[in-house]
Amino acid sequence: MAAYIDLRSDTVTRPSEEMRLAMYRAEVGDDVYGEDPTVNALEELAAEKLNSEFALFVSSGTQSNLLALMSHCRRGEEYIVGQDAHTYKYEAGGAAVLGSIQPQPVDFEEDGTLDLKKVEEVIKPDDFHFAQARLLCLENTKSGKVLPMEYLKQASDFVAEKNLNLHLDGARIFNAAVELNVDVSRISTFFDSVSVCLSKGLGAPVGSVLCGNRDFIRSALKWRKMLGGGMRQAGILAAAGIFALENNVNRLAEDHENAEILAGGLSRIDGITVEDGKARTNMVFISVDPAVSADLTDYLKERGILISPRPVIRLVTHLNVSREDIHKVVEAFEHYFSRK
Ligand SMILES: *Cc1c(COP(=O)(O)O)cnc(C)c1O
Repeated sequence: MAAYIDLRSDTVTRPSEEMRLAMYRAEVGDDVYGEDPTVNALEELAAEKLNSEFALFVSSGTQSNLLALMSHCRRGEEYIVGQDAHTYKYEAGGAAVLGSIQPQPVDFEEDGTLDLKKVEEVIKPDDFHFAQARLLCLENTKSGKVLPMEYLKQASDFVAEKNLNLHLDGARIFNAAVELNVDVSRISTFFDSVSVCLSKGLGAPVGSVLCGNRDFIRSALKWRKMLGGGMRQAGILAAAGIFALENNVNRLAEDHENAEILAGGLSRIDGITVEDGKARTNMVFISVDPAVSADLTDYLKERGILISPRPVIRLVTHLNVSREDIHKVVEAFEHYFSRK
């Protein structure tokens, strides 16, 4: 296969030779019996890193968030979530369909936070007319934006006062930690549960981990079984997750630097507007005049570069995109817009 420079997402990362060797060598057992030593090791490692009591290895971020929602909320209860949050908009309505949990969306603020005053306004009185809110769900990073640490503290104080739980869809929590140059546990500490994707910038082929306390994880384990997510010799996959957590966290800084260089290069091109004028962690959002750039996607593809055609184009850097690739991408955009 031709090696494309694939900027569509950081989910396209492929396991490296060393990661594959770790998978090949993994000791395995039946994880439904709790006997896969590699899965157990990954869960211990994740729990330790996020400073949570327990962690559970799951098939995807979508499953992880669903298990969290179903563990925090019962049938007929409510969770408060951002209007275009992944858990609400991009997970096929799983919480409603499979959990009978009602979402209460609230618009995101510009910085990726949810305004806690607006959240307060949608919490309904304790009255039989209303679904009772049990959970506030945040996302970090949100479209590449890192939530401010002071906000996390405020949100955590807020939920304590309102008697809600706080879940983080931390698909890219390590990008947030690396960007802030803080230990990831400084972020996770504010939450009752955190879901982390191993299969994005961290470079594992499959899997997420869900972190929380003993009772929470016990509940999540039961829902995981019910949803068909109990895997057997999953240590083959967990080995990739361990490799990712041990080797691919600090290097996220390179992805952020590459995104910054990409944003800088693209912002100098007439016809491209870079949102915020800069990168957000490993993402750059650009808008281009659709009338001018109808064949942009095809033009780039012919030059070995993949992007998703959208009104606002999201370009994502990751471990299979090098500094040299970034220069090639900027050049290709320059050529394209200089012909116009
Ligand atoms: C990718 C992603 C998920 C879940 O992803 P899966 O593809 O199901 O692993 C959840 N939340 C956010 C913010 C994501 O970007």
